Amino acid sequence: MTRFLLTLAASALAVAGLTAAAVHQPAASAVPAQGFNIFSVDQDVALGAQVAHQTDSMYQAKGQLMARSSNARAYQLLDGVVKRVLDNGNLKYRSKFPWDVKLIKDDQTQNAFATPGGHIYVFTGLVKFLDNESQLAGVLGHEIAHADRRHSTQLLQRQYGVGILASMILGKNQGLTAQIANGLAGLGSLKFSRTFEQEADKYSTVYLNGTRYYACDGAAGFFIKAEKQGNANPPEFLSTHPNPGSRIQAIQNNARSLGCTGRSVNNSNFEELKRLL
Ligand SMILES: [Zn+2]
Repeated sequence: MTRFLLTLAASALAVAGLTAAAVHQPAASAVPAQGFNIFSVDQDVALGAQVAHQTDSMYQAKGQLMARSSNARAYQLLDGVVKRVLDNGNLKYRSKFPWDVKLIKDDQTQNAFATPGGHIYVFTGLVKFLDNESQLAGVLGHEIAHADRRHSTQLLQRQYGVGILASMILGKNQGLTAQIANGLAGLGSLKFSRTFEQEADKYSTVYLNGTRYYACDGAAGFFIKAEKQGNANPPEFLSTHPNPGSRIQAIQNNARSLGCTGRSVNNSNFEELKRLL
């Protein structure tokens, strides 16, 4: 997917008359400052709806999108975790984004992702890999942070350039809009910058603290488990979210600085969810 986006970015930049080198070494002035976002929040919502539509179609075609109607109890349990995290009081777009969650039946993929505009996808392999509900809440918090902090659209404007995105936003480049939505439908493998990863880790602890329920270093539990597994078969979330050692430390330090320690959560709902997948 990353190669696809780079290829797409290269052709997009060529169209704009920029040099191919700009893809790898953008001029300093061409890189918007962190936090600058040419997309409006409504456009995050619109792009997200398109990405979610493509994502649903893709996994439906493979027979992997788990329907709510036939998995009501599993969704009830998962929704409970997602809602607790979403209602932590620190989201900027809690009521603006839809924040729906869907399960993808793939036991080999230990991953979750959120599209721009807040559509959440969780692979069954992630739930089965984790040991407790705080770990799941921690990973969900991380992905929710990418969406709520609007990392995807900031990344897109870095990859494609502000000019291209402006034409897309103005409706002059429907083809590219569709291509981007298609590319993002594999968002699980989208590579965020280290800064965005660190920010999402930090917000995961802030969100979990706000739940007044989950252990705030839940996301670290994922990395600790992943490290123990060794490098032979690194989980998907790890290959797209590198540097486990320093991240475990940072997450645990954040949790301590929030004064969030010693929370332990009843695990029976989480164990039931695992059994249902
Ligand atoms: Zn991430």
